[in-house]
Amino acid sequence: MAAAGGVVVLSGAGLSTESGIPDYRGPSGALRRHTPMTYQAFTSGVTARRRYWARSHVGWRAMAEARPNSGHRAVAHLQRRGLVTGVVTQNVDGLHQAGGARDVVELHGSLHRVICLDCGALSSREELDARLTRANPAFAARAVAVNPDGDAELRDEEIDGFEVVGCRACEGGVLKPDVVFFGESVPAGRVSDCFALVEGARLLLVLGSSLTVMSGRRFVLRAAKLGIPVAIVNQGPTRGDDHATLTVDAPLGEILSEVAALVDARTAATR
Ligand SMILES: [Zn+2]
Repeated sequence: MAAAGGVVVLSGAGLSTESGIPDYRGPSGALRRHTPMTYQAFTSGVTARRRYWARSHVGWRAMAEARPNSGHRAVAHLQRRGLVTGVVTQNVDGLHQAGGARDVVELHGSLHRVICLDCGALSSREELDARLTRANPAFAARAVAVNPDGDAELRDEEIDGFEVVGCRACEGGVLKPDVVFFGESVPAGRVSDCFALVEGARLLLVLGSSLTVMSGRRFVLRAAKLGIPVAIVNQGPTRGDDHATLTVDAPLGEILSEVAALVDARTAATR
């Protein structure tokens, strides 16, 4: 099926677990012990933001060190071969791009970028990381656990006194990672871009998403409504299984490498 091309990939946290980034809802289930930051809490005041940035500053180490796995590389390979025509990801870790994929639509944004809530300026997380490190020379907190949104578990006494820095462009504006927090909507233009990709697909391939939230599930529903086949590779059941033509419950890196190899073998055979 994939060999015919026109495949649009929709990926979730399950694709990045083999890179050491935990999943919220998969087998490791970070959501059970972790309440993600909401937009409402983040904008409620400086205390909530200090808490967020202290934890995220520690969590960024793990994010910055994560490397793409064989699943990310296989997707990029299939894209280079012209079989994958679009990549939409719910992940904010940048690992598709690090694995060589191009034109990735980051549905929920990216932890690699920072946005100013006051002037809208975008800057790099690397730059903010350096500024936060300089502003907190004595900060030496170690993460107990890191979550998929780059948020690390810290003790309260480690957060007190953490110095948050403001936007450089407007001199002091509130900085937020350029990710869609819980309680925030995905920008409408980004959603319509994704719908356009899905509507033009011959196959929607879901990789490592339990499709629990409507943010991703709506694309499966749209594909199903249009009669576009949906294939789901995920560890464990998903909320899109009823709409899938094919479901595979298996580790993603292994399966995707096999698909990529199979495609290569087929292409070689038809030469
Ligand atoms: Zn600003």
